[in-house]
Amino acid sequence: MAGLFFGTGGTPHSAKAKSTIAGIERIAELGLGCMEIEFVQGVKMGEASARLVAETATREGVRLSAHAPYFINFNAHEPEKIRASQDRLLQTARIASLCNAESVVFHAAFYLGDSPDKAYATVKKYLAETLNRLRRENNRVWIRPEIMGKPSGFGTLEEILDLCTELERVAPCLDFAHWHARTGGLNSYQEFASILQQVKERLGKAALDNMHIHVSGIAYGKKGEIKHLNLKESDFQYTELLKALKDYDTKGLVICESPDLEEDALLLQETYNTLLKAG
Ligand SMILES: [Zn+2]
Repeated sequence: MAGLFFGTGGTPHSAKAKSTIAGIERIAELGLGCMEIEFVQGVKMGEASARLVAETATREGVRLSAHAPYFINFNAHEPEKIRASQDRLLQTARIASLCNAESVVFHAAFYLGDSPDKAYATVKKYLAETLNRLRRENNRVWIRPEIMGKPSGFGTLEEILDLCTELERVAPCLDFAHWHARTGGLNSYQEFASILQQVKERLGKAALDNMHIHVSGIAYGKKGEIKHLNLKESDFQYTELLKALKDYDTKGLVICESPDLEEDALLLQETYNTLLKAG
């Protein structure tokens, strides 16, 4: 019934084992709906395992996404680092596709002192090459650059929405905790609603029907994000966010990245369901 599915960034802590398959089984046991497979330290899963992951997810009714390695910078100044970044995103998308994951989330770039305009042009150029390659391979995974939590990281809301309008098969990963930390504000119903309104205006209602969201509590300072926190230990107004998501009839996956992964994912899901019942 609900348009939103809630789950964890990585295998839940209470899973029987650390494996992705144990994670999917635990998500189903907990009554959650999705999980993001974390390839943040590298793609170490083989093709046979990926097929088993897909079977398990289908059997358990759990929707999947994947997070690409952190070591990606589509604005790197050395050509070999650009190639390595493209390879890491390709590898993630290929394995994600075998896992039946719907989306690949990635941190697109760092400015490295470049102007935002210059960085944008570079990221767009090299990302377009990677997307062409995936298209030739018939890979249908959504590629989702994430809103970043530090001013040094490429990925403001506007940059991400620009990439989504200019490149095919690219959709946003809205990390509301990152945007809150990066701006030091953006933590009210009105502001959450205005982000969703911008998505709707720039990408159309279809984008709200196919959304991918990261949420956690967050500690932040002048340089943006410091670390993730549990929701109740942070100032993040998650109930207000959930109200805005409900009012905009947003559909898709909400991935919780709090230290207490599944506890906060369940908190988000329960809060959302209570809002739905209240009408
Ligand atoms: Zn991320």
